[in-house]
Amino acid sequence: MVTKVITITEENRAAALREAGEIIKAGGLTAFPTETVYGLGGDALNPASAKKIYEAKGRPSDNPLIIHIANMEALPYIVEEVPATAKRLASLFWPGPLTMILKKSARVPYETTGGLDTVAVRMPVHDVALDFIEAAGGYVAAPSANRSGRPSPTTAAYVAEDMEGRIDMILDGGQATLGLESTIVDLTVEPPMILRPGFVTQEMLSVALGEIRVDETLLRADSGQAPKAPGMKYRHYAPKGELIVVRGDMRAVTAYMNEALRQGRAEKKKTGVIATDETLEHYQADVHFSVGERGSAKAAAERLYRILRECDDEGVELILSECFDEEGVGAAVMNRLMKAAGYHIVDV
Ligand code: AMP
Ligand code: MG
Repeated sequence: MVTKVITITEENRAAALREAGEIIKAGGLTAFPTETVYGLGGDALNPASAKKIYEAKGRPSDNPLIIHIANMEALPYIVEEVPATAKRLASLFWPGPLTMILKKSARVPYETTGGLDTVAVRMPVHDVALDFIEAAGGYVAAPSANRSGRPSPTTAAYVAEDMEGRIDMILDGGQATLGLESTIVDLTVEPPMILRPGFVTQEMLSVALGEIRVDETLLRADSGQAPKAPGMKYRHYAPKGELIVVRGDMRAVTAYMNEALRQGRAEKKKTGVIATDETLEHYQADVHFSVGERGSAKAAAERLYRILRECDDEGVELILSECFDEEGVGAAVMNRLMKAAGYHIVDV
């Protein structure tokens, strides 16, 4: 299959989105930009499209897909009912980086929900995404447009790296500005539960809804609990090299990381370090990455996946990372970093 890549311009925009929409309606796949990360879109109401998405990603088919919609009128068609909690969150956070889990209607095939009776729904805010969803018939199932296990793509070039030859089209709409996937909140349980942290934080959700829980399996790999969502059991975002996250007092962290890096080099490994603008120069490694200024979780969110991919591009075999600020979206940054490390965390 030849993958057509179209960079959206003012001139070609309408025609490109029409063509992309036709691909979806015909049962094909198009990757498209959103404000979080690039999505790999297929017709959410077509079981064959869901199967194609799993194939292209190399992802197990019990991993449910998020259905992307472009307006509120589309919601009742795919859910059993729209609870007051969903209306409230939609009025506050849609369009935007929030995914809600609701009871699915009979119109949504089990292929899309990974066999579940619930469905994940999001209305993105990116204008190309919204117009593409409309052109595609209103219901686009889309996981992140990476091969399974790799970091989610924040640019069309990263999508191409993973998906060239596997999908029909890639719409290039520039860099994904937020850089981390949406917050997922399950509204089918009482109290509502966060299944994946993101830009819409627990604090923001509890202002709107009152008590909100956070799924235990998000916090630790060994929490002993079965994951709530099938998607949560798979290893994610991982670079090819070994990634170790070091937590503790800054001086002890620096000392531990430098010793580990020294040992790595002694074993002839290519080494990398992930730190902040303020601390980067304290480390001796082959490749240095900064998530930005200390305390800027937004900058870290935007850069994290690019850094993990660059670790692969540089062939880094051993990566040591500091921990970063967990305020606000920082909780989501640390969640992804821990997953990328396969929860290999050292406390010093
Ligand atoms: P991605 O598309 O890569 O951003 O990941 C989508 C994730 O959404 C899945 O891996 C699941 O964790 C979650 N998800 C989607 N649908 C459901 C659902 N019905 N119930 C619980 N989690 C879901
Ligand atoms: Mg993903």
